[in-house]
Amino acid sequence: MIRVDSHSHIILADITDMVASAQAKGIRQYSITEHVSQFRELRESGVFAAMHSTGRIFEDLKEYRREFSRVDVSEHPGMELRMGLEVDFLPQYEARIGGYVNQEEWDVLLCSVHELKHGVDVETPRAELQNPAEARKQWDEYFGLERMALESDFVPFAVLTHPIRMVRGANLIPDEMDDLLLELAKTARRHGKALELNGKDLNFAPGLVRRLAKACSKAGCNVSLGSDSHLPQEVFRNMSEAMALVEEFDLELGK
Ligand SMILES: [Zn+2]
Ligand SMILES: [Zn+2]
Repeated sequence: MIRVDSHSHIILADITDMVASAQAKGIRQYSITEHVSQFRELRESGVFAAMHSTGRIFEDLKEYRREFSRVDVSEHPGMELRMGLEVDFLPQYEARIGGYVNQEEWDVLLCSVHELKHGVDVETPRAELQNPAEARKQWDEYFGLERMALESDFVPFAVLTHPIRMVRGANLIPDEMDDLLLELAKTARRHGKALELNGKDLNFAPGLVRRLAKACSKAGCNVSLGSDSHLPQEVFRNMSEAMALVEEFDLELGK
């Protein structure tokens, strides 16, 4: 299996340092996928409730593209560098966000759900989630949004990222979790999308990522491997563990 990392950011570190780290780790295909909420026009339009409070802001897509031209590809033989974005799915702003992203062509687009209705950041622990019924309700809402994202063509994305990230805020896992994961994986399969085995998720919820991998195997949906790194030392984070899951469950990597 070739070494890939399909999910990285450049708002905290220089692109050349991120790419150098990818090279040092023997990565053959490396993708930089900045959050759309780090681009001034979208950020200031007030559509996002959940976003980084710090880190670089890009004036526009042109400034972002210029960063990639600072990488001397001849210094990285054998490595393909892909230019992408991580695009928030917010049903009420699909047209707005899609219109911005689709001004350009991208090597790879990731799609993510960072907030529930009413702008609740999925990663924020909430007191009401200690109640199992409420936790179940919010997990249903979260997976509902992720399935809706997979069914949407607002941007031509290939991968739904960190599909179980809400566990950071909602650590009461419903009994029906495996059914919810299977339904998600079947939806991904139907729409030709991959689900991501995310390196950051593998840090704090390895058991749940494993259940996700199992659901992908059952449903026959592709997976994508991404470290979600923001710093050079995080590039390829937990990707060996992710590759082990790919082997164990005989999974296919999406593009
Ligand atoms: Zn994300
Ligand atoms: Zn990310």
